Amino acid sequence: MNPHTLLPEPPPMVALEPPEDPRRDRSGRARCSGQPLGLYIHIPFCLERCPYCDFNTYAGLDHLFEPYVDALVAELQGWAQALGHPRVDTVFLGGGTPTVLPSRLLARILESVAQAYRLEPGCEITSEANPGTGDRPRFAALRSLGINRLSMGAQSFQAHELRFLGRGHGPEDVVRAFRAARAAGFENINLDFIFGLPEQAPEDWADTLDQALALAPEHLSLYSLMVEPHTPLFHWVQRGRVSPPDDDRAAWLYEMALDRLEGAGYIQYEISNWARTHQAQGDPAAQPTYACRHNLHYWRNEEYLGVGAGACGHLCRGAPPLAWRPEALHGIRWENHRPVAGYIRRIQDRGHAVRTQDPISPAMAMAESMMLGLRLVREGVSRERFARRHSRGLDQVYGAPIAELEQEGLVEWVGDCLRLTRRGLLLGNRVAMAFLPD
Ligand code: SF4
Repeated sequence: MNPHTLLPEPPPMVALEPPEDPRRDRSGRARCSGQPLGLYIHIPFCLERCPYCDFNTYAGLDHLFEPYVDALVAELQGWAQALGHPRVDTVFLGGGTPTVLPSRLLARILESVAQAYRLEPGCEITSEANPGTGDRPRFAALRSLGINRLSMGAQSFQAHELRFLGRGHGPEDVVRAFRAARAAGFENINLDFIFGLPEQAPEDWADTLDQALALAPEHLSLYSLMVEPHTPLFHWVQRGRVSPPDDDRAAWLYEMALDRLEGAGYIQYEISNWARTHQAQGDPAAQPTYACRHNLHYWRNEEYLGVGAGACGHLCRGAPPLAWRPEALHGIRWENHRPVAGYIRRIQDRGHAVRTQDPISPAMAMAESMMLGLRLVREGVSRERFARRHSRGLDQVYGAPIAELEQEGLVEWVGDCLRLTRRGLLLGNRVAMAFLPD
């Protein structure tokens, strides 16, 4: 059994109980601006735990599938009611591995979404999937539920790297699952990969990229390996069993990916994300047609609703008619209780499972717009958008740090938009620090 499933649940954090129902303010009004929301639904179950992963997910909890979905449905309905059945333009089933749930449970979740929320035409509905948990009938079942985008955790095409990462699949499973998803009708597929493994050979990374490109997915996400506290990988590094990832090597591998993916016609639209375009290759005005619209909500600092164990949400109240409490003018962010059984209990007891909620100060809201917006490497942060959102001028608020970053060659103005330079892409943390409030 996976050690994560043996951990006892921590006692409830009474001190962090929210003072009021987070879905409404003290006057009882719904907290949301009226713009279409992104809806994130967390499925905290995996077949087994990968040693590098610090997501809120557990193996061996199959007996909680049914009560968890009951709780999810109740939470979805509660939020929908509190927010006046808001419009939703993206739904993201993430995890964990949503596809470990039987199709009938996924169907219940998506039916309750369709009943309780006003889904916009063309709503993007994504499910994460593990190459080891999908064949053609399974993917066809997902497609028939209305899921129109698949995000697969491929991670590598090198068998030894997949073994190091503790993945239960091999390179051939990625190819098989990808083809099965295509055959089942998925026309929008993302593949996730991890680079910067300890002593990763550049030729192995190049081969992984080439094999990924040969499949021609609509979207690619490339993440550098992070050693997160409390993971088995962290302890291996601490004990010297594994070398820590090397930042310089990771930067080199990242640059290799920048060139290879650009050469293959992919448009990098975010630090870690590339998408294909419908427009002609090389057209400087080409747009990333298959950019993940759900994640754009996060990077544009827009509203999203997160339901499920450990899920986070963000509602803005910047629109003047909704700004009824000055301290929450710029929004609220919250996080749900993380352990699965405790989450279910809280939903049963009080209808929501919010563990912490923080009003967002004007200074923090502006900083978040910068730190998140600059991740969008083509779009960047526009003066016009910033002023509309924050009622302050971008140059007025951040003139000095922007000038400093420009001098260092980390950001540049392209028309009305501030964007990262190629050097800035490699030093994203340095850029983000410049906008943190004192
Ligand atoms: S399959 Fe994904 S979510 Fe599950 S443990 Fe592995 S990395 Fe984490």
